[in-house]
Amino acid sequence: MMAAETYQFQLGGWTCWSIQDENGGPPVSDLFGEVPPQDRHFIPYPDDHVLDMSFNCLLIHTGDEYILLDSGNGVDSGGDGRLLQNLATLNITPDQINAVVLSHAHGDHYAGMLHSSGAKVFPNARYVMWRDEWLYYGTDEHRERERQRPNGEMRVQLWETYFRPLEKYLTFVDAAAPQIAPGITARPTPGHSKHHIAIEVAAQGETLLYTGDAFLHPLYFQHPEWRFRNDIDATDTEQSRRTLIAEALKKNALIHSFHFPFPGLGHLVEENGALEWQPVMLA
Ligand SMILES: [Zn+2]
Repeated sequence: MMAAETYQFQLGGWTCWSIQDENGGPPVSDLFGEVPPQDRHFIPYPDDHVLDMSFNCLLIHTGDEYILLDSGNGVDSGGDGRLLQNLATLNITPDQINAVVLSHAHGDHYAGMLHSSGAKVFPNARYVMWRDEWLYYGTDEHRERERQRPNGEMRVQLWETYFRPLEKYLTFVDAAAPQIAPGITARPTPGHSKHHIAIEVAAQGETLLYTGDAFLHPLYFQHPEWRFRNDIDATDTEQSRRTLIAEALKKNALIHSFHFPFPGLGHLVEENGALEWQPVMLA
């Protein structure tokens, strides 16, 4: 039997689904390679252990609109994205999606927004992202930066096909106007990317924090100071993680994390100064 790849839950009066786009993990050495040697004992696996990493998009039905947070790896891009296939099992078609929100400008989040032809995968949706993230990653200057990195040409090709052409479809949120839709608000949480955002979803007194890639593994809740090698700024990342943790505790928020094991949902609980991650378990 196929493992479930959609998980439905209620937030306030809204119906939401965590939807797996892909799964398959990196080894411990990849995700925790920069952890200081004196902290290594906090990681309960050997270096070559392969972690359970998922790619979880979030779909929210507010009553008025279907709003999708991140789009996954896509299919045209050479990715193995199953988002559309999993949407179909919910009897939801791409043309029903009203908005797609991008947490940050990395391919595993944006490549599902466009076909290789440049056409929108979600033809009726407004495409929303943080203005400064676009201003940093949408430029010719960024193309040159990408060329300097390992696998530069491959990265540029993905960017040219699936990111740069977004320009003509995008609407922006920014510090002056962070609201995406009523109850859905962008929260600047830089560090993983230059202007990464988290997304706060508030429905009838209940709060969900969509944390994108601020935490790539639950151990980062206990160690927000640990550096992940792909974060663009470790100091910003740590600050953003601490802000999100404080916010989650204050609001008793349900947390959604893009790369945690599916469905990527859970609560943070603080006991005697120690943080515990309590994941939502699949039935
Ligand atoms: Zn990611």
